[in-house]
Amino acid sequence: MGISRKVKKAVFLDRDGVINELIYNETGMEYEPPHRTEDIKIIKGVAEALGKLRDNGFELFIISNQPDYAKGKTSLDNLSLVRNKFMEILNKDREIVKEDFYCYHHPEGVTDGFSIDCDCRKPKTLSVDKAVNKYEIDRSSSWMIGDRETDIECGINSQLNTILIKNKYNLYHGKVKPDYTADDLFSAAKIILNKKL
Ligand SMILES: [Mg+2]
Ligand SMILES: [Zn+2]
Repeated sequence: MGISRKVKKAVFLDRDGVINELIYNETGMEYEPPHRTEDIKIIKGVAEALGKLRDNGFELFIISNQPDYAKGKTSLDNLSLVRNKFMEILNKDREIVKEDFYCYHHPEGVTDGFSIDCDCRKPKTLSVDKAVNKYEIDRSSSWMIGDRETDIECGINSQLNTILIKNKYNLYHGKVKPDYTADDLFSAAKIILNKKL
């Protein structure tokens, strides 16, 4: 075994629609991420799936685009409270998610300083690259799981294996092809654990 070889494998997780349900906004008539901690609803099977991936040696990271402050829909404080609450819930009994990486920008936002074309917004790869370098992750045995085109694109751009979650929110329109599709994170974890890359 070469001493310089990166051997750690990881799963990079999109958050909304993969870990938690989206919230229907009556006013805007659209689904949106939770803006309050009490709106966090973890999807069934997520805790078990993440636990199994950890037990099998995967480092777990959340990679999330959260443009709603940039878009003027909520405060940065609210987004931080929700972000922290996710880590508290998911890591309640032991360390499950190693680190979370968030992009708060949007190229067409309305908020000063946040309405930019940044490098951390998926499908760009800055956040994945940071995690890969910081934790010495081997890309070829690692995965990106998400429910949008941009998640899959980010996975491909980052040279990861990709799984599209086909959920009820229908955010995928077939432009880029994932390696696998699954109904939910629980099924996605099964695919990963059966694959043994
Ligand atoms: Mg999503
Ligand atoms: Zn960003």
